[in-house]
Amino acid sequence: MSAQILDGKAIAFDIRQQIKHQVEKRGQNGKRPPGLAVILVGDNPASQVYVRNKRRACEEVGFHSELHQLSGDTPQQELLDLIDHLNAQENIDGILVQLPLPRQIDEEAVIERILPTKDVDGFHPYNVGRLVLRMPLLRPCTPKGVMTLIERTGEQIEGMDAVIIGQSNIVGRPMALELLAARCTITVCHSRTQYLPEKVRNADILVAAVGRPRFVQAEWIKKGAIVIDVGINRDEDGKLVGDVDFDTVKDKAGWITPVPGGVGPMTIASLLENTLQAAELHSNQA
Ligand code: NAD
Repeated sequence: MSAQILDGKAIAFDIRQQIKHQVEKRGQNGKRPPGLAVILVGDNPASQVYVRNKRRACEEVGFHSELHQLSGDTPQQELLDLIDHLNAQENIDGILVQLPLPRQIDEEAVIERILPTKDVDGFHPYNVGRLVLRMPLLRPCTPKGVMTLIERTGEQIEGMDAVIIGQSNIVGRPMALELLAARCTITVCHSRTQYLPEKVRNADILVAAVGRPRFVQAEWIKKGAIVIDVGINRDEDGKLVGDVDFDTVKDKAGWITPVPGGVGPMTIASLLENTLQAAELHSNQA
């Protein structure tokens, strides 16, 4: 039997429609559109594509969006000054600094400079800390999008065994916190993990965030598992593939996300949700 597909593209479309409606309602209540400022430092081609997609999504739902494009040799202080300026700008609810940053800039210092209520990526230690304490405010976008996908399965996940492969600050770690908050029992695996296939075999929910094409094999998968593939990789033929060997794993899993069209669109949908949430927070503060 083949797994049911978790169609991130369709679910993200639904979310964008709901957000568009909420933005219209804000307008009817005399509130301004949510505003997102995107900062891009340098000319990394992948970052340019991500930024373009995020801004396009903002425009589609009626947000104000602005791009601050800085050259690759921008000194750190100039970037921090721009963040200070955007922190104080009333029509901006979210500030997104596209990562990675050039070498002369300290990523942590930049993330910490963003006002926590404008940290729509959810990377600020304040927002991560709130997630640790089970009182989330702005949640990291990719794990949040994964939780939305899992909710759409309609499965009761409380008490399930969840295995996460990857421990990065932007995906693996916050993913573990999200699943723990949903009362799963979690195992976080990484490059030093021993007997990885055995650990994965125990997973009712598997989230793969490794960055290796078709790394996860069908033999590792528990029958009926929910398999979420965060990876975005090019294989040797230049084809866009995930971290999971989709063609074989789909015959074993109960649910599976495709790549592309799975987690990727959900990350952007979560960014829009966070920006709207931040706008509501700021309206209530005003
Ligand atoms: P990262 O390189 O920061 O982390 C990769 C993790 O995989 C590390 O924790 C490492 O320990 C682990 N790992 C590496 N080799 C391993 C092995 N052999 N066995 C077990 N674990 C191993 O990457 P990241 O930023 O977390 O991203 C992971 C993947 O997800 C990448 O393909 C990235 O492009 C993709 N990504 C997708 C989205 C999205 O929206 N779909 C968002 C962010 C990242």
